[in-house]
Amino acid sequence: MTGTELSPGMRAMSDRVSGADYPAWRRQVERVRYCARPVRVTGCASAVDTSTGEVSASFSSGDQPDGTLLIACGDRRASVCASCAETYRRDMWHVVASGLQGRSTATSSGTHTGARADTAGSVVPSTVESHPRLFVTLTAPSFGPVHSARGGAVCRPRSGRARVCAHGRPAGCGLVHDTAHPVVGTPLCADCYDYAGAVLWNSHAGELWRRTRIGIDRALAPLASAATGAPVTASGVRDLLRVSYVKVSEFQKRGLVHLHLVIRLDGADPNGGIVAPASWATAALLSSAVRRAVGAAAVALPSPDGRLRVAQWGSQFDVSDVSAGGPAGDTRRVAAYLAKYATKTASDSAGASGALASRFRRLHRTWLRRKVGRHLATLVETAWDLGGRADLADLKLRSWAHTLGYRGHFATKSRRYSVTLGALRAARRTWRAEQRSASGEPDVWHTATDAGAAVVGDFSYAGRGYTHATDADLARMMAREYEDALHEYRDLLRREAEMAEWCPLTDE
Ligand SMILES: [Zn+2]
Ligand SMILES: [Zn+2]
Ligand SMILES: [Zn+2]
Repeated sequence: MTGTELSPGMRAMSDRVSGADYPAWRRQVERVRYCARPVRVTGCASAVDTSTGEVSASFSSGDQPDGTLLIACGDRRASVCASCAETYRRDMWHVVASGLQGRSTATSSGTHTGARADTAGSVVPSTVESHPRLFVTLTAPSFGPVHSARGGAVCRPRSGRARVCAHGRPAGCGLVHDTAHPVVGTPLCADCYDYAGAVLWNSHAGELWRRTRIGIDRALAPLASAATGAPVTASGVRDLLRVSYVKVSEFQKRGLVHLHLVIRLDGADPNGGIVAPASWATAALLSSAVRRAVGAAAVALPSPDGRLRVAQWGSQFDVSDVSAGGPAGDTRRVAAYLAKYATKTASDSAGASGALASRFRRLHRTWLRRKVGRHLATLVETAWDLGGRADLADLKLRSWAHTLGYRGHFATKSRRYSVTLGALRAARRTWRAEQRSASGEPDVWHTATDAGAAVVGDFSYAGRGYTHATDADLARMMAREYEDALHEYRDLLRREAEMAEWCPLTDE
């Protein structure tokens, strides 16, 4: 073998890059934003003038490289598609930030995602910056002692009492663990650990939040009465105040859901708008209502093993004031934090894909244990076993075994909180169509929105992922190039902004 011979993979990549249709292929990959496993479809579409029947533009996948059209997978999970997850993360940032700041400042990321600041700003007034806003983290209670990383301190110093548990295992751990160590989050004794309780808690976490949300309104009533000096009933609160929120769920290492929320207090506007609350409605008042509701919320759990359990929040919850001027008032940081967690998932935590449940069905218990570790595997197994019981059928635990029993959405918001993901996506579609039309590229779908035309088309599913394995490598390389260029561009903008600060007279 000589040094100039190419491996089959390199040859396929070289064929792609030197092919006549490479520019068209590259355009497709850019259009799906370097998606890691796009959906391939075949078919054609035409924009037809509805009054004359004339075809003004047409598209056929037959004219495209490999005869297919690529569509981005749109998955929000970074473990599945880094690039679609990145788009989702940026959108989530806008959702969270626009509810905190109202009109978000125009950023380069806004321009690049096409989710422009004016879309968000038109929905949420910038006055929300004066509303009380809290950043809240709610965790699950303990289902048994687990190993933890304590920033250089000993994991679990043994208390003076029992040296071993009922199963003869050490009741403490004298080691110091690093956060990334696989033992972190796993129980000291798997036999002591209440796996059924943990799975049932996850499966009721959504209901627990729903009751907490109702509890906040109830807790606001006496506080509003005290603040205004006039009696306010639980239902009367809604004539004075509105609580809105955005919520992101995440899995802790121990396999239990925890929630991060931004909770905002608005006034009640009969026209359905977002208005400032009365001055007595402070962040401190909202905070005490949230604390009361979190402390009081409870859901009785079913009892498959005769043990009585009640789902409540763990004692480790956090409520920080992120109102303007509040102690943790860095709204951009809060938005970035929530957006980041929105792309992490249960399956990231379990280190496996959605195929996990079906594999589990084939009793690949050993495979699962090797893949995600004994603790998370036991949670999946427990969910699967409990899911087979008739008395728990309504929990659909087998369908949610791969999310360890949790069946809620990973990111939700109340209607009034801010702009929707749908609005951001629509803005991006419009923006991209404008770009294409500005570049002179014929576009069936954009033509149709322009001129009273309808799109007639027929597409069918051709497959998932790139046609050639090396195409995926190439798309990954293109994504890196794009990210590098983006960083350079942002650096340039930052340097220009710094220059403007140093030379304040240049603009005058
Ligand atoms: Zn994708
Ligand atoms: Zn330990
Ligand atoms: Zn034990």
